[in-house]
Amino acid sequence: MRAMKLNAALFAVLLAAPALLLAQNQTVRIHAATVLDGTGKTLRNATIVVQGSKITSIEAGTTANARNATYELGQVTVLPGMIDIHAHVGWHFDKDGRYAARHGSPAQEILYSAENAYVTLLAGFTTIQSPGQANDVELREGIARGVFPGPRILTSIRQINERSGTPDEIRQKVRQLKTDGADVIKIFASASIRDGGTQTMTDEQLVAVCGEAKAQGMRTMVHAHSPESIRASVNAGCQQIEHGVFATDEVLKLMADKGVYFDPNVGVVLQNYLKNRDKYNGIGNYNDEGFAYMEKGLSINAAMIKKAVATPNLKMVLGTDAVAGAHGHNADELVERVRQGGQQPMDAIVSATSMAAQSLNLGKTIGTLAAGYEADIVGVDGDPLTDITAVTRVAFVMKGGKVYKLSAGSARGAKPAQ
Ligand SMILES: [Zn+2]
Repeated sequence: MRAMKLNAALFAVLLAAPALLLAQNQTVRIHAATVLDGTGKTLRNATIVVQGSKITSIEAGTTANARNATYELGQVTVLPGMIDIHAHVGWHFDKDGRYAARHGSPAQEILYSAENAYVTLLAGFTTIQSPGQANDVELREGIARGVFPGPRILTSIRQINERSGTPDEIRQKVRQLKTDGADVIKIFASASIRDGGTQTMTDEQLVAVCGEAKAQGMRTMVHAHSPESIRASVNAGCQQIEHGVFATDEVLKLMADKGVYFDPNVGVVLQNYLKNRDKYNGIGNYNDEGFAYMEKGLSINAAMIKKAVATPNLKMVLGTDAVAGAHGHNADELVERVRQGGQQPMDAIVSATSMAAQSLNLGKTIGTLAAGYEADIVGVDGDPLTDITAVTRVAFVMKGGKVYKLSAGSARGAKPAQ
């Protein structure tokens, strides 16, 4: 009987939700027993007040006001919308179930990207950075128009690698990327682990790309596996290192000393390739040798993440390197960093929220629950501080003040606005 009443109430919420989407200036109040603000603070019995797309205030310890909640999330733990700073949103399997290497028509490709964006949003990720393909710009602009759902998108559009030319030619390419609307410069300083991970770009090329990017006010993210490629990138003034499978204590400390962000990927990308081996095998360097490397990579990653977590002051941010098959599973990266690396759950959550936002130069806009920030708010079923897998059970998603997900199973007793 009680269950029926609850279902009726939730049904009412679901009916009311589209109306809330349109009521841009309505004040919305979200109450939960526990709110993690994204900077490491825990607020108890808190109400987040949202007007339009922004948070206007947070009232903590407000039992009386809780009665006026538009969304009563109860024991669902609320945190800022999560941020994945490395997700290949356009990668997909084709209709025959194989990795498609992005060879479909422009219309097919953008629709696959849109599907991936949607499942990523529903998994609690309200912002992602794509290391880049040409149609990311259309995807970014399309989502920003505010009609079809997806996370905020940042993109490199293209990449710079050892074949990008002389230092002068590379500088020109960086300026062109800025003109074309890139948000970040993506650089390949080393081979993939399937090819051993050694340094590919010269030190001069790295100085050219990261120096010019800095001069143009642009951020840089560098794919680098070997210690040499990491050291050369940091010394060239690059701001962020991706993967770092073979990172040593020395280069981890170097990154920490220089304030360079580090984005190890230990929980999603290799596991996803191995899980979907049949869909990739036989395409490019996805061969038996490559898969053997990736299997070894799991244990190398496990050792590396322990060292990274133990490195004082290392600014570790959340990125997954999600490819075809992995979209919507982005939060698994947090789970594995805690499980394999011994990272504190609160640190993992900060890495996916306020610190990730800072790495994008968006630290004053997203990634924190506080007055003036975008209302990017998610709720997870359980307490991620005692069971990090809660971040994979997303029950509530709001982005820019609009609700995209309200899971009946978890948003207990939610009721629509009066
Ligand atoms: Zn990648």
